[in-house]
Amino acid sequence: MHSVPPPPPQAVRPVPARFALRPAPGTIDGVNDDVLFSARAVVLRDLNARGADAAAAVDVLDEAVTERRWWVEQWPDGAAFVAGQIAQDVQDRLLDQGLGRWPLCKACDETSPHEMRIEPELGPDPHWVCEKGGIVVAPLGALR
Ligand SMILES: [Zn+2]
Repeated sequence: MHSVPPPPPQAVRPVPARFALRPAPGTIDGVNDDVLFSARAVVLRDLNARGADAAAAVDVLDEAVTERRWWVEQWPDGAAFVAGQIAQDVQDRLLDQGLGRWPLCKACDETSPHEMRIEPELGPDPHWVCEKGGIVVAPLGALR
């Protein structure tokens, strides 16, 4: 009888070195790294858009991504919200570490420097908003 060869194994993307080398405590398989990578990419894009993508800021971003990997692992339904969470983590840490306010609002008439906020704080489809002007400025990842 003619035997059917088994189907070729599906190509598996290798785990990127960043996560392979620095797993969060208690990390197990099963977290979709694509979610974290796309989240990292959109936040990095907005850092870059505002010239805030110095090495120290990218380190802050990578720390936040690594920690949120654990968060998504604990709460898989949060995957849709993780980009907004990482953006807020980075924003808080940049300020805490003296790296400055990011991203500064350029959308309203208020002249004193103020940063924009992510809305919703915990939800899908995160946007940058100016709370002073009540303006929705741009989706996360689309700052200019
Ligand atoms: Zn504003």
